[in-house]
Amino acid sequence: MTAVRDGLAIPEIRMSPDFSTNLRYFPLSEYYRRRFGKRVYKVSVATARTCPNREGIRGMSVCSFCDQWGSAAYEELVGQPLQTQIARVSARLRERYKAERFLVYFQAYTNTFERISRLEALFEEALRQPDVIGLVVGTRPDCLPRRMLRLMSEIARSHYLSVELGVQSLDDDQLNFLSRGHDGACSLAALESLREYPEIDVCAHLMFGIPGEDDGQLKETAAVLSAQGLQGVKLHNLHVLKNTPLARLYGQGAFAPVSLPEYARKVAVFLEHLAPGVAVHRLNAVASRWEELLAPPWAKEKLGPTQFIRDYMERVDSWQGKHYQSGQWYPPPGLPQGGEAAINNGNGKWG
Ligand code: SF4
Repeated sequence: MTAVRDGLAIPEIRMSPDFSTNLRYFPLSEYYRRRFGKRVYKVSVATARTCPNREGIRGMSVCSFCDQWGSAAYEELVGQPLQTQIARVSARLRERYKAERFLVYFQAYTNTFERISRLEALFEEALRQPDVIGLVVGTRPDCLPRRMLRLMSEIARSHYLSVELGVQSLDDDQLNFLSRGHDGACSLAALESLREYPEIDVCAHLMFGIPGEDDGQLKETAAVLSAQGLQGVKLHNLHVLKNTPLARLYGQGAFAPVSLPEYARKVAVFLEHLAPGVAVHRLNAVASRWEELLAPPWAKEKLGPTQFIRDYMERVDSWQGKHYQSGQWYPPPGLPQGGEAAINNGNGKWG
C-alpha cells in the first residue's frame, strides 16, 4: 500500500516487532537493529581534554550548562589509556546487557579540537579492540575542518562512523544564553558540509527549555533538521549542575528549568514536525552525577521522565512526523525502497 504526501508516493514502512511496541517515535535501538541486524551498544570514552570554550578561543567562555567533566560519562576513567577505558566499559555492558557489539563513543569535551594525527591514532586503536564495529565522535559545529571530515569519511568507508554534533539550538539568542560561542548559521554550515559525506551518520544534540524558546522555533528546528537529511537527534532538557554558569543564574532567580509536563509537551511538538526516519537517540537528559544536580529534580532519573513523555504522546495522540510537511521524506535505513510502505498505520503508531 502506498500513501501520497505532497504529491509524492510514500512507501508504507512496516515496522519491526521491536518498533511496534507502541512507541510513537523511531528509537535509536531500532535504527541500530536495522542497520546492524542486532543490538549494538555505545562505549563512552573520554580522550579529549578540552574544547574551544575552555581555551577561550575567540573570547569564548564555558557553556553555561557544562560541568568540569565536559560530558564525560565516567569521570573515574578520565586519563586512563583508551584501551583500558574500552575494556572496562564494554565489560560492564557485557555483564549487564549481554552486549556483543560496540561503538566507541568519543564523548567528553570536543573530540575534533585535536591534532589530526593523534585523533587518527585513537580511532585506529579503538577499532582494533574486540567486538568494536564503529565509532561515534562528539564535537561542535565550529570544529569540523575539511581534513577532519576527510579522515572520518575514509574510516566511514570501512566502518560505521557517526558524528554527534552539539547544535543545541538554531536560535542565536538562545545560543548566546548558553554561551556556545557559535551561531545557528555555523551549525547549518556544518550540517551542509557533512552532507557531502553521506557515508558519515549525523546526530544533532538539542536542548529544550532555554529561555525565550517557543513552539514556532521547535517546529522550525524540526523542519530544518529534517531537510538536512540527518540520521538522528538527541534531546536534552536544560538542567542545572553545580559550579556552572547556569547555576549562578539559577541562584539569582534568572533561570528556572521547565517542568516535566511542559518539557514533554515541547518534545511532542518537536517530534511531530520531525521526519519519521530520523532516529531519536534520547528523549531527555539525565544528570550523570546526581550530587551535581541542582534542578530540576526529575533530571536525576532517565526512565521515569522518558516514560512520562511516552505516556504524554499517547494521551494527546502525538507521534513523530504527525505534522511533518515536506517532500524531503526519507525512510529509515534497511527498509525496502518501495512496495511496503507508509509512515504509520493511521492511528499514529508504528506498525
Ligand atoms: S559543552 Fe562542550 S564545548 Fe561547551 S564547554 Fe562543555 S565541553 Fe566545551
